[in-house]
Amino acid sequence: MSIKPTLLIVEDEASILRGLTDLFIFHGFDVESEMDGQKGLNRALNGQYSCIILDVMLPSINGFEICNAIRQQSQIQPILMLTAKNAEEDIINGLTLGADDYLAKPFSTSELVLRVSALIRRSGLSGNDHKLTIGDNVSICTQKLTGISFEQEMRYTRREVTILSYLNQQKAPVSRDELLREVWGYKSTEHLDTRTVDIHIAKIRKKIEKDPKFPEHLVTLRGEGYQLISCQS
Ligand code: CA
Repeated sequence: MSIKPTLLIVEDEASILRGLTDLFIFHGFDVESEMDGQKGLNRALNGQYSCIILDVMLPSINGFEICNAIRQQSQIQPILMLTAKNAEEDIINGLTLGADDYLAKPFSTSELVLRVSALIRRSGLSGNDHKLTIGDNVSICTQKLTGISFEQEMRYTRREVTILSYLNQQKAPVSRDELLREVWGYKSTEHLDTRTVDIHIAKIRKKIEKDPKFPEHLVTLRGEGYQLISCQS
C-alpha cells in the first residue's frame, strides 16, 4: 500500500464518477475506478484499497453482491455504499452484507470525504501504524487481525482491533457512548444498549490480558469508561 490512501470507486454514472475521482484526488487520495460491477469486484478482490466506495445499482452485478463477495475474502476491508435516497431497505441490506457505512444519494461531498476518512482511520489501515504493542507480551497486526499474546497466536475481529486502535489514540478514558459513536458509528446513542460494548471489551480482555478478571491494560475507570494502558503503535 502506498503512503497515500487508495480508493476504489465502483460507480456507473460517468458524471458522478468523474466528480468523485476529482474530489478524492484533491483530498490527497489515489483513486482507481470501475463502472461495471463484475470488473469492480475483480479489482476489489485483487487490489489493496484503504476504502472501497460502492454504488448499489450497477451493470452486471450490483453493489450488494460486490460487498458480500468482498466480505467472503476480507473482514477488514472498509466499504462505504452509496444508496438511493431514503431507501431504507438498501441501507439495511448494505449493512447486513457487511458495508461499514453508507451515504444516500444525493450526498454532500464534504460529508463523503469525512465518512471515508473516518472509516480509514477506524480501520487502522491508514499510514504505517499496522502494529499495536500492549505491555510486554501482546502484539497485534492491525491489518492482518492477528497477533501474539503470551507466546500464543491470536486472531482478532476487525471490531476488536478498531476498539483497541481507538482507545490507543485517545490515551484517556473513553465512555461506552463515545465508543458506540466513534467505533460503531452510531449518531445517537440514546436508545442503544451499551452491553454490546461490554461484551466486546470482555472478549478483548480474554485475548490481551494475563488474567481477564483483573485487567492490567484494558482497564475500567468507574464512571469514566475504558482506558488502554501501556499500548504503543
Ligand atoms: Ca448506479
